[in-house]
Amino acid sequence: MQISDDKKILQLVKSSTAGKKRARGTVKGRNPVAGADEYGQQVEQYARRIRETSDVNEIINILDTVLGETRNLRYSNEVYSAQEQVRLAEKQIESLKLELEQLRELIHYDPMTGAFNRRGLDAVYVREAARADRNENTLCAVMLDLDDFKQINDTYGHQFGDDVLVHFVTVAKKSLRPSDVVARYGGEEFVVLLPDTTLESAVWVMQRLQNNFSRKVLSDMEGNSVPVTFSGGVVSRQFREGQKSLLKRADEALYQAKQSGKSRVMITPVNE
Ligand code: GH3
Ligand code: MG
Ligand code: MG
Repeated sequence: MQISDDKKILQLVKSSTAGKKRARGTVKGRNPVAGADEYGQQVEQYARRIRETSDVNEIINILDTVLGETRNLRYSNEVYSAQEQVRLAEKQIESLKLELEQLRELIHYDPMTGAFNRRGLDAVYVREAARADRNENTLCAVMLDLDDFKQINDTYGHQFGDDVLVHFVTVAKKSLRPSDVVARYGGEEFVVLLPDTTLESAVWVMQRLQNNFSRKVLSDMEGNSVPVTFSGGVVSRQFREGQKSLLKRADEALYQAKQSGKSRVMITPVNE
């Protein structure tokens, strides 16, 4: 779902880039100037590269290059008569780049809850893991899953289930430190990263979150409180441990928490 949305976003950006290219072609047609031809060919090549890639960062880099070359045209005597068009092209590229930079931010978030999505988690993990290794700091991760969520959906409806997910993220953000990270890993599964936190403190933090979450319950249509709990698997990252291995260990601990009755957090010892 998320991936196809992202593809759509890229598609939009790509088609608008192609549109701009066509628009410039028309302008060029009206103002045939030597030098602009070469520029046109370059732009054509860049547009092809943009169509071929799905890497947003690469597209932004290409737009930066095109912008640089477009600016250079300002100082070219050959296109002196087309200065207005050059300025216009520059503006269009700049706004496209800005739009793309905003989209790049958006594709890191889950639209419903505002938590990071998996892609966002990947990016944050790289940063936090590097920081932890560099400073020899602890980094804890929690794999967390809401309990009996299917039953909540079945009893109160899917919209209520959605509200619970949003509510969970709101409570989590309020209960955690600003440097902690909340990511929606799947349907009703979340990953929390706790930088500079020991395993013992991470367990304590999760218990506090559980208390806050179950205390601030949502109400059903009749105004009755609907208590919701979660289970979690807490692990402390080992030096240079990758995300996959860390989350696998956290998932094993989560499985133990579910098996032993839910509404609790379990830890996996570092050397297991
Ligand atoms: P357990 O305690 O063992 O985790 O049981 P569970 O019912 O929470 O787990 P299960 O995997 O059986 O069900 C998860 C449910 O979450 C099923 C799915 O329809 C629901 N779900 C997944 N994503 C969403 C969502 O975005 N909104 C809503 N409302 N429900 C969702
Ligand atoms: Mg689940
Ligand atoms: Mg569940």
